[in-house]
Amino acid sequence: MSSVQKLAAAGEAGGQSLPDVSRPLLEVRDLTVSFNAPHGLVKAVNGVSFSVSPRERVGIVGESGSGKSVTAQALLGLLPTATVTGQILFDGRDILSMPKSDLRALRGWDISYIFQDPLSALDPVRTIGDQISQPLRLRGVHQKEAKTRAIQMLAKVGIREPARRYKDYPHQFSGGMRQRVMIAMALIGEPRLVIADEPTTALDVRVQAQVIDLLYSLTEEQGTAVVFITHDLGILAGFADRMMVMYAGRVMEAAETDELYYRSINPYTLGLLQSLPRIDGPIPLTLTAIGGRPPSPSNLPGGCSFHPRCRYAQDICTAERPPLETPENGTHPSACHFANWLTEEPGVLR
Ligand code: SF4
Repeated sequence: MSSVQKLAAAGEAGGQSLPDVSRPLLEVRDLTVSFNAPHGLVKAVNGVSFSVSPRERVGIVGESGSGKSVTAQALLGLLPTATVTGQILFDGRDILSMPKSDLRALRGWDISYIFQDPLSALDPVRTIGDQISQPLRLRGVHQKEAKTRAIQMLAKVGIREPARRYKDYPHQFSGGMRQRVMIAMALIGEPRLVIADEPTTALDVRVQAQVIDLLYSLTEEQGTAVVFITHDLGILAGFADRMMVMYAGRVMEAAETDELYYRSINPYTLGLLQSLPRIDGPIPLTLTAIGGRPPSPSNLPGGCSFHPRCRYAQDICTAERPPLETPENGTHPSACHFANWLTEEPGVLR
Protein backbone atom coordinates (compact mmCIF):
# COMPACT_ATOMS: atom_id res chain seq x y z
CA MET A 1 0.00 0.00 0.00
CA SER A 2 1.47 3.39 -0.94
CA SER A 3 1.68 6.26 1.54
CA VAL A 4 -1.25 7.97 -0.16
CA GLN A 5 -3.35 4.79 -0.04
CA LYS A 6 -2.36 4.32 3.60
CA LEU A 7 -3.60 7.84 4.40
CA ALA A 8 -6.84 7.24 2.56
CA ALA A 9 -7.40 3.92 4.37
CA ALA A 10 -6.67 5.51 7.74
CA GLY A 11 -9.15 8.30 7.00
CA GLU A 12 -11.88 5.94 5.86
CA ALA A 13 -11.38 3.51 8.74
CA GLY A 14 -11.54 6.24 11.36
CA GLY A 15 -14.34 8.17 9.65
CA GLN A 16 -11.99 11.17 9.79
CA SER A 17 -11.08 13.73 7.20
CA LEU A 18 -7.76 13.18 5.40
CA PRO A 19 -4.70 15.15 6.59
CA ASP A 20 -4.24 18.52 4.91
CA VAL A 21 -1.41 17.85 2.41
CA SER A 22 -1.08 21.57 1.63
CA ARG A 23 0.41 22.27 5.06
CA PRO A 24 3.96 21.24 6.03
CA LEU A 25 4.37 17.65 7.12
CA LEU A 26 6.90 18.74 9.74
CA GLU A 27 7.11 22.17 11.35
CA VAL A 28 9.82 22.99 13.86
CA ARG A 29 9.40 26.28 15.71
CA ASP A 30 12.01 27.91 17.92
CA LEU A 31 13.55 24.59 18.97
CA THR A 32 16.08 24.68 21.82
CA VAL A 33 17.91 21.67 23.24
CA SER A 34 20.15 21.87 26.30
CA PHE A 35 21.90 19.37 28.54
CA ASN A 36 23.02 19.66 32.16
CA ALA A 37 26.72 18.79 32.24
CA PRO A 38 29.15 18.78 35.22
CA HIS A 39 30.78 21.96 33.85
CA GLY A 40 27.47 23.77 33.29
CA LEU A 41 24.59 24.03 30.86
CA VAL A 42 25.33 22.90 27.31
CA LYS A 43 23.14 24.67 24.76
CA ALA A 44 23.29 22.40 21.74
CA VAL A 45 20.42 23.93 19.73
CA ASN A 46 19.36 27.57 20.08
CA GLY A 47 16.11 28.62 18.45
CA VAL A 48 15.98 26.57 15.25
CA SER A 49 12.89 26.80 13.01
CA PHE A 50 12.22 25.04 9.71
CA SER A 51 9.57 23.05 7.91
CA VAL A 52 9.41 20.06 5.57
CA SER A 53 6.58 19.60 3.06
CA PRO A 54 5.24 16.22 1.97
CA ARG A 55 7.65 14.58 -0.55
CA GLU A 56 10.30 17.26 0.06
CA ARG A 57 14.01 16.49 0.65
CA VAL A 58 15.66 18.91 3.08
CA GLY A 59 19.39 18.83 3.85
CA ILE A 60 20.78 20.00 7.19
CA VAL A 61 24.50 20.64 6.95
CA GLY A 62 27.21 21.84 9.32
CA GLU A 63 30.46 20.82 10.98
CA SER A 64 30.60 18.45 13.97
CA GLY A 65 29.09 20.16 17.00
CA SER A 66 26.80 22.42 14.95
CA GLY A 67 23.70 20.85 16.53
CA LYS A 68 22.38 19.12 13.41
CA SER A 69 22.25 15.56 14.81
CA VAL A 70 20.86 16.79 18.15
CA THR A 71 18.13 18.59 16.18
CA ALA A 72 17.35 15.37 14.30
CA GLN A 73 17.20 13.28 17.46
CA ALA A 74 14.99 15.84 19.21
CA LEU A 75 12.48 15.50 16.36
CA LEU A 76 11.78 11.94 17.47
CA GLY A 77 12.09 12.39 21.22
CA LEU A 78 15.36 10.42 21.28
CA LEU A 79 17.03 12.66 23.91
CA PRO A 80 15.64 11.57 27.29
CA THR A 81 18.21 13.53 29.33
CA ALA A 82 17.88 16.81 27.40
CA THR A 83 15.64 19.80 28.06
CA VAL A 84 13.79 20.46 24.81
CA THR A 85 11.59 23.54 24.28
CA GLY A 86 9.74 25.00 21.31
CA GLN A 87 7.30 23.15 19.05
CA ILE A 88 7.75 20.15 16.78
CA LEU A 89 4.55 19.65 14.80
CA PHE A 90 4.17 16.49 12.72
CA ASP A 91 1.06 16.74 10.57
CA GLY A 92 -0.21 19.35 13.04
CA ARG A 93 0.38 17.23 16.18
CA ASP A 94 2.94 18.44 18.72
CA ILE A 95 5.55 15.74 19.28
CA LEU A 96 6.85 17.38 22.47
CA SER A 97 3.51 17.16 24.28
CA MET A 98 2.42 13.80 22.82
CA PRO A 99 1.86 10.77 25.13
CA LYS A 100 4.75 8.29 24.93
CA SER A 101 2.53 5.59 23.39
CA ASP A 102 1.54 7.95 20.53
CA LEU A 103 5.18 8.89 19.99
CA ARG A 104 6.15 5.21 19.79
CA ALA A 105 3.42 4.61 17.21
CA LEU A 106 4.56 7.64 15.22
CA ARG A 107 8.17 6.39 15.20
CA GLY A 108 7.18 2.98 13.98
CA TRP A 109 4.57 4.03 11.47
CA ASP A 110 4.97 7.57 10.12
CA ILE A 111 8.61 8.49 10.77
CA SER A 112 11.72 6.34 10.32
CA TYR A 113 15.28 7.08 11.36
CA ILE A 114 18.42 5.92 9.54
CA PHE A 115 21.32 5.94 11.97
CA GLN A 116 24.92 6.94 11.29
CA ASP A 117 26.43 3.61 12.29
CA PRO A 118 24.47 0.58 11.03
CA LEU A 119 26.64 -1.90 12.93
CA SER A 120 25.57 -0.49 16.29
CA ALA A 121 21.99 0.12 15.11
CA LEU A 122 21.51 -3.50 13.96
CA ASP A 123 21.13 -6.31 16.49
CA PRO A 124 24.16 -8.63 15.99
CA VAL A 125 22.37 -11.78 17.17
CA ARG A 126 19.28 -11.52 14.97
CA THR A 127 19.18 -12.25 11.25
CA ILE A 128 18.88 -9.39 8.78
CA GLY A 129 15.56 -10.77 7.57
CA ASP A 130 14.11 -10.92 11.07
CA GLN A 131 15.07 -7.27 11.65
CA ILE A 132 13.76 -5.96 8.32
CA SER A 133 10.43 -7.74 8.61
CA GLN A 134 9.86 -6.74 12.26
CA PRO A 135 8.10 -3.39 11.53
CA LEU A 136 5.56 -5.27 9.39
CA ARG A 137 5.03 -8.06 11.94
CA LEU A 138 4.46 -5.48 14.68
CA ARG A 139 1.65 -4.09 12.57
CA GLY A 140 0.02 -7.50 12.33
CA VAL A 141 1.25 -8.48 8.85
CA HIS A 142 1.36 -12.30 8.65
CA GLN A 143 4.87 -13.75 9.03
CA LYS A 144 4.92 -15.27 5.53
CA GLU A 145 3.78 -12.04 3.89
CA ALA A 146 6.27 -10.02 5.99
CA LYS A 147 9.08 -12.34 4.83
CA THR A 148 8.08 -12.01 1.16
CA ARG A 149 8.01 -8.22 1.42
CA ALA A 150 11.33 -8.12 3.29
CA ILE A 151 13.00 -10.19 0.54
CA GLN A 152 11.50 -7.87 -2.11
CA MET A 153 12.85 -4.88 -0.15
CA LEU A 154 16.31 -6.45 0.09
CA ALA A 155 16.26 -6.89 -3.70
CA LYS A 156 15.16 -3.25 -4.14
CA VAL A 157 18.09 -1.96 -2.11
CA GLY A 158 20.46 -3.97 -4.31
CA ILE A 159 21.28 -7.00 -2.13
CA ARG A 160 22.05 -9.95 -4.45
CA GLU A 161 20.44 -13.33 -3.71
CA PRO A 162 18.06 -11.65 -1.23
CA ALA A 163 16.26 -14.89 -0.25
CA ARG A 164 19.57 -16.44 0.84
CA ARG A 165 20.93 -13.26 2.48
CA TYR A 166 17.66 -12.90 4.44
CA LYS A 167 18.99 -15.55 6.84
CA ASP A 168 22.42 -13.92 7.31
CA TYR A 169 23.59 -11.90 10.31
CA PRO A 170 24.83 -8.27 10.23
CA HIS A 171 28.52 -9.26 10.55
CA GLN A 172 28.22 -11.19 7.26
CA PHE A 173 27.48 -7.95 5.38
CA SER A 174 29.94 -5.23 4.31
CA GLY A 175 29.55 -1.63 5.58
CA GLY A 176 27.80 -0.51 2.38
CA MET A 177 25.44 -3.49 2.46
CA ARG A 178 24.56 -2.86 6.11
CA GLN A 179 23.68 0.73 5.22
CA ARG A 180 21.41 -0.60 2.44
CA VAL A 181 19.79 -2.87 5.04
CA MET A 182 19.17 0.18 7.26
CA ILE A 183 17.48 1.91 4.31
CA ALA A 184 15.36 -1.20 3.71
CA MET A 185 14.31 -1.23 7.38
CA ALA A 186 13.48 2.47 7.30
CA LEU A 187 11.37 2.27 4.14
CA ILE A 188 9.61 -1.09 4.39
CA GLY A 189 6.69 0.42 6.31
CA GLU A 190 6.37 3.29 3.78
CA PRO A 191 6.78 6.08 6.34
CA ARG A 192 5.81 9.65 5.46
CA LEU A 193 9.12 11.05 6.73
CA VAL A 194 12.63 9.58 6.89
CA ILE A 195 15.32 11.22 8.99
CA ALA A 196 18.74 10.13 7.68
CA ASP A 197 21.47 11.06 10.16
CA GLU A 198 24.83 11.05 8.34
CA PRO A 199 23.90 7.75 6.66
CA THR A 200 26.96 7.65 4.41
CA THR A 201 29.72 8.92 6.71
CA ALA A 202 31.47 5.57 7.15
CA LEU A 203 31.36 4.62 3.46
CA ASP A 204 33.84 5.19 0.65
CA VAL A 205 32.81 7.76 -1.98
CA ARG A 206 31.67 5.23 -4.58
CA VAL A 207 29.39 3.39 -2.14
CA GLN A 208 28.28 6.77 -0.73
CA ALA A 209 27.02 7.82 -4.15
CA GLN A 210 25.20 4.48 -4.62
CA VAL A 211 23.48 4.74 -1.22
CA ILE A 212 22.37 8.34 -1.88
CA ASP A 213 21.02 7.42 -5.33
CA LEU A 214 19.16 4.52 -3.78
CA LEU A 215 17.65 6.67 -1.03
CA TYR A 216 16.65 9.24 -3.65
CA SER A 217 14.92 6.78 -5.97
CA LEU A 218 13.12 4.81 -3.25
CA THR A 219 11.81 7.89 -1.43
CA GLU A 220 10.78 9.39 -4.79
CA GLU A 221 8.90 6.18 -5.61
CA GLN A 222 7.14 6.09 -2.24
CA GLY A 223 6.54 9.86 -1.99
CA THR A 224 8.48 10.03 1.29
CA ALA A 225 9.81 13.32 2.69
CA VAL A 226 13.45 13.20 3.84
CA VAL A 227 15.54 15.19 6.30
CA PHE A 228 19.18 14.38 5.44
CA ILE A 229 21.82 15.37 8.01
CA THR A 230 25.43 15.67 6.85
CA HIS A 231 28.68 17.56 7.35
CA ASP A 232 29.40 17.29 3.63
CA LEU A 233 27.72 19.97 1.50
CA GLY A 234 28.90 18.24 -1.66
CA ILE A 235 26.82 15.10 -1.34
CA LEU A 236 23.52 17.01 -1.12
CA ALA A 237 23.91 18.72 -4.51
CA GLY A 238 21.78 16.31 -6.52
CA PHE A 239 19.65 15.17 -3.61
CA ALA A 240 18.14 17.99 -1.55
CA ASP A 241 15.43 20.42 -2.69
CA ARG A 242 16.31 22.82 0.10
CA MET A 243 19.18 23.16 2.53
CA MET A 244 19.74 24.63 5.95
CA VAL A 245 23.25 25.42 7.19
CA MET A 246 23.82 25.23 10.96
CA TYR A 247 26.60 26.56 13.15
CA ALA A 248 26.84 26.57 16.95
CA GLY A 249 23.25 25.39 17.32
CA ARG A 250 21.74 28.07 15.08
CA VAL A 251 20.67 28.35 11.45
CA MET A 252 23.17 30.43 9.47
CA GLU A 253 21.47 30.26 6.08
CA ALA A 254 18.52 28.45 4.49
CA ALA A 255 17.72 28.33 0.78
CA GLU A 256 16.79 26.19 -2.17
CA THR A 257 19.78 24.03 -3.04
CA ASP A 258 20.87 25.81 -6.25
CA GLU A 259 20.38 29.19 -4.59
CA LEU A 260 22.64 28.15 -1.73
CA TYR A 261 25.35 26.76 -4.00
CA TYR A 262 25.43 29.63 -6.47
CA ARG A 263 24.14 32.67 -4.52
CA SER A 264 25.07 32.09 -0.89
CA ILE A 265 25.05 35.26 1.22
CA ASN A 266 26.71 33.92 4.33
CA PRO A 267 30.48 33.77 5.00
CA TYR A 268 30.19 30.46 6.87
CA THR A 269 28.34 28.74 4.02
CA LEU A 270 30.84 30.21 1.58
CA GLY A 271 33.67 28.84 3.72
CA LEU A 272 32.13 25.35 3.53
CA LEU A 273 31.66 25.68 -0.23
CA GLN A 274 35.25 26.83 -0.75
CA SER A 275 36.53 23.79 1.12
CA LEU A 276 34.91 21.46 -1.45
CA PRO A 277 36.90 20.08 -4.38
CA ARG A 278 35.35 21.30 -7.67
CA ILE A 279 35.34 19.78 -11.12
CA ASP A 280 34.08 22.86 -13.03
CA GLY A 281 37.41 24.69 -13.26
CA PRO A 282 41.16 24.24 -12.77
CA ILE A 283 41.86 21.65 -10.09
CA PRO A 284 43.36 23.50 -7.08
CA LEU A 285 46.51 22.11 -5.48
CA THR A 286 45.10 22.76 -2.00
CA LEU A 287 41.59 23.30 -0.66
CA THR A 288 40.67 26.36 1.38
CA ALA A 289 39.71 25.26 4.88
CA ILE A 290 37.89 27.42 7.41
CA GLY A 291 40.50 28.30 10.05
CA GLY A 292 40.01 27.41 13.72
CA ARG A 293 37.49 25.05 15.25
CA PRO A 294 33.78 25.26 16.04
CA PRO A 295 33.11 26.62 19.56
CA SER A 296 32.12 24.44 22.50
CA PRO A 297 28.33 24.57 23.01
CA SER A 298 29.02 25.25 26.71
CA ASN A 299 31.06 28.35 25.92
CA LEU A 300 29.66 30.09 22.84
CA PRO A 301 31.24 33.39 21.76
CA GLY A 302 29.06 36.49 22.09
CA GLY A 303 27.63 38.25 19.05
CA CYS A 304 27.85 36.12 15.92
CA SER A 305 29.20 32.73 17.13
CA PHE A 306 31.22 32.45 13.91
CA HIS A 307 33.13 35.71 14.44
CA PRO A 308 36.39 34.21 15.81
CA ARG A 309 36.77 32.25 12.54
CA CYS A 310 35.25 34.71 10.08
CA ARG A 311 37.60 36.59 7.76
CA TYR A 312 35.03 39.34 7.34
CA ALA A 313 34.17 39.97 11.00
CA GLN A 314 33.80 43.61 12.08
CA ASP A 315 33.22 45.16 15.53
CA ILE A 316 29.47 44.68 15.28
CA CYS A 317 29.97 40.91 14.86
CA THR A 318 31.47 40.54 18.34
CA ALA A 319 28.82 42.75 19.95
CA GLU A 320 25.49 41.75 18.37
CA ARG A 321 24.07 38.45 17.25
CA PRO A 322 22.80 38.80 13.68
CA PRO A 323 19.15 37.77 13.23
CA LEU A 324 18.24 35.18 10.60
CA GLU A 325 16.38 37.27 8.06
CA THR A 326 15.94 37.79 4.34
CA PRO A 327 17.71 40.94 3.07
CA GLU A 328 15.56 43.59 1.36
CA ASN A 329 16.44 42.47 -2.18
CA GLY A 330 17.30 38.90 -1.23
CA THR A 331 15.57 35.62 -1.87
CA HIS A 332 16.45 33.70 1.28
CA PRO A 333 17.43 34.25 4.92
CA SER A 334 20.98 34.50 6.27
CA ALA A 335 22.24 35.25 9.79
CA CYS A 336 24.94 37.78 8.92
CA HIS A 337 25.15 41.52 9.58
CA PHE A 338 26.32 41.96 6.01
CA ALA A 339 23.74 39.83 4.24
CA ASN A 340 22.25 42.93 2.56
CA TRP A 341 25.60 43.95 1.14
CA LEU A 342 26.38 40.38 0.04
CA THR A 343 23.05 40.30 -1.80
CA GLU A 344 24.03 43.43 -3.72
CA GLU A 345 27.61 42.22 -4.32
CA PRO A 346 27.23 38.44 -4.59
CA GLY A 347 30.75 37.82 -5.89
CA VAL A 348 32.54 39.76 -3.20
CA LEU A 349 33.51 36.80 -1.02
CA ARG A 350 34.35 34.36 -3.77
FE1 SF4 B 1 31.08 36.90 9.67
FE2 SF4 B 1 30.10 38.98 10.98
FE3 SF4 B 1 28.62 37.81 9.12
FE4 SF4 B 1 29.12 36.56 11.45
S1 SF4 B 1 27.94 38.45 11.16
S2 SF4 B 1 29.23 35.66 9.43
S3 SF4 B 1 31.20 37.24 11.87
S4 SF4 B 1 30.56 38.89 8.79
